[in-house]
Amino acid sequence: MAKKRQDELGKLRAEIRNITLDIITKAHKRMKLSEQIGAIKGNLRIEIEDENVEQEVRRSVIELSHTLGIDPAFSGRLLNMLLMESIRLQQIQHKKIGNDPLIPTHLSVFMKAKELESSGKKIIHMEVGEPDYPPPKKIRKALVESYNKKQYHYTDSKGLLKLRQAIAKKVGHGIEHDEVIVTSGGRFAIFSAILSILRPGEEVISIEPSWPAYREFVDFAGGKIKTLGTTIENSWTPDTGQLEEMIGHHTKIIVLNYPNNPTGKILDKKDITRIVSLAQDNGLYVISDEVYSDYAFKGFTSLTHYEYDRSIVVSSFSKSCAMTGFRVGYGIADREVISKMARIQAIALTSVAEPMQYAALSAIDYSPAGNVKLIKERLDLISEKLSNMSLDFISPDGAMYVFPRLKGLVQNDAALVGKLLDLGVAVAPGSGFGQDYTRYIRISACQPKKMLERGLEVINSVLFIH
Ligand code: PMP
Repeated sequence: MAKKRQDELGKLRAEIRNITLDIITKAHKRMKLSEQIGAIKGNLRIEIEDENVEQEVRRSVIELSHTLGIDPAFSGRLLNMLLMESIRLQQIQHKKIGNDPLIPTHLSVFMKAKELESSGKKIIHMEVGEPDYPPPKKIRKALVESYNKKQYHYTDSKGLLKLRQAIAKKVGHGIEHDEVIVTSGGRFAIFSAILSILRPGEEVISIEPSWPAYREFVDFAGGKIKTLGTTIENSWTPDTGQLEEMIGHHTKIIVLNYPNNPTGKILDKKDITRIVSLAQDNGLYVISDEVYSDYAFKGFTSLTHYEYDRSIVVSSFSKSCAMTGFRVGYGIADREVISKMARIQAIALTSVAEPMQYAALSAIDYSPAGNVKLIKERLDLISEKLSNMSLDFISPDGAMYVFPRLKGLVQNDAALVGKLLDLGVAVAPGSGFGQDYTRYIRISACQPKKMLERGLEVINSVLFIH
């Protein structure tokens, strides 16, 4: 009897191995076809990603899954992995043909500006989102004290208990310290949250224009980013009906960022409520990146307000307290997600540097009102100058940026950014925030008014004067 079972097992194993090899052979055929498609698209100068074509394949796959009785979430993940590989191969073909446009981002402009500065050129930095004012004075004392008390060791990878308690208290809504993780900047909170939740092939919906890092995080985690575009005509408000249509079997996370980088938009409470209820109905996580929440010039509703169990709220000391270089941020989520995020932080970094955590603790009660007022005044100044140039933009409700649409002589961001750099002004190109925003630039208010005025004069001269 046992011998018969053993034989049967052996046969089944052989069969499963052969099927696996068949799948790989078919995948290889699929990849060869992708390369051919990539070459044709390259010659025709057609965009690589085509949402309609993807949707068509997706529909067929879901239909087949239902017919066969396979979980459509599984086949969807598998499909996404195949699609991502296709995109990668097609991008290689595009590069070979030589029409792979290097998309400029605020970071690449910053690097270039730094290079120019090191060769002696003066640059007005309107591309960076880094406060130009100092952090709270108290921090100096906290750092010295931390040194004197020998508080310069590894800490719990979730962060110092005292700091987590202080953050929980500040955030309110009954949040407890074990629902808080202190991370290396808000950036690592978002990255580790995505890595914790997302399985390869699953989808993340992000609302564009957006901070480019979300896409990078999702790519890194082997997931697929789906973008919901917003327009200046709709005052950068996402269409929640469209969002509902985008949610599929393998959608896992929605990322929100309000006040928004780069548009300065703050979503109305009714829209957030609708998004949370869509997430709830579909069992989705919502990551709310609230690093600019102190810079809100109208009512802002934090996701913590909803007490939704699948929410991850991210904030940071970087912008509120002008502490970008200290690298202290935090995430708020349910205990299980926090533990997963902590494991990733332990693997990558051990913990946030202890003295920096004490510095953040000393800044916990800091009032950013003065900084917020300063940024608001500068944004008003930028808005006034842009209005004088008759450029279209939505007055920012918050954050540190204005995102105008170009008109006049140079309407393409890459061309304008290059020209401006030659004239000593750095701005962030719109295409870095999404491929549909090549006619926009982001102007940051992190420079003194005099500098901003000078920079805007240069922009005016490039756009409108021959
Ligand atoms: N989110 C957004 C929207 C940002 O613009 C930034 C920084 N530019 C961050 C998160 C990360 O900030 P930090 O890691 O310094 O906290």
